[in-house]
Amino acid sequence: MANITRMQLLRGDIQGKKIPFRPPWAMPEESFVEYCTRCDKCIDACFDELIVKGQGGFPQMDFTQGGCDFCEDCLAVCETNALIKIIDNSDNNTPDNQKIAYLPPWHIKASIDLTQCLSMNATICRSCGESCEDEVIKFDLKLGGIAEPILDSEHCTGCGSCFSVCPVRVIQLIKET
Ligand code: SF4
Ligand code: SF4
Ligand code: SF4
Repeated sequence: MANITRMQLLRGDIQGKKIPFRPPWAMPEESFVEYCTRCDKCIDACFDELIVKGQGGFPQMDFTQGGCDFCEDCLAVCETNALIKIIDNSDNNTPDNQKIAYLPPWHIKASIDLTQCLSMNATICRSCGESCEDEVIKFDLKLGGIAEPILDSEHCTGCGSCFSVCPVRVIQLIKET
């Protein structure tokens, strides 16, 4: 069984499902809360104000304001390595151009509840697709004025841009384990 943090116990969250989204490149939760001194430097560094003070004073993401562009400003100011880039040593990620490969900044994916999506209910909306810089969301035109958003989960970076623009909040951000 995975180690359980004191914070998880206090939240009654043994499985860790209520752990907030930490800033990109955060260490696993147990180490993160140990290393993070709650200095607020990452909060101040994020130009888009996507990082807020959360429970216990620890920083967490607020995707309601927009998506993360992975600019690394928060990472750069973290002096304790609570946010840290880790080299990916797995075989299938060996770089072919001498560049060091790092583990992804987080394991977050977007997911759309199609039943409530405007575009699936004959109302024109392409906001999520237009906001996705990685062009991960495409629309499949169907009869009756319906355009189904198709999200390519594999290439979704979990940046949160689509979440913040969806007018009916039917996009969820989900942590992959
Ligand atoms: S990587 Fe940049 S945009 Fe993303 S949370 Fe950090 S400072 Fe903000
Ligand atoms: S689909 Fe993924 S990559 Fe595209 S905007 Fe949404 S979270 Fe970002
Ligand atoms: S932004 Fe929301 S309502 Fe609009 S197409 Fe995307 S998921 Fe549907």
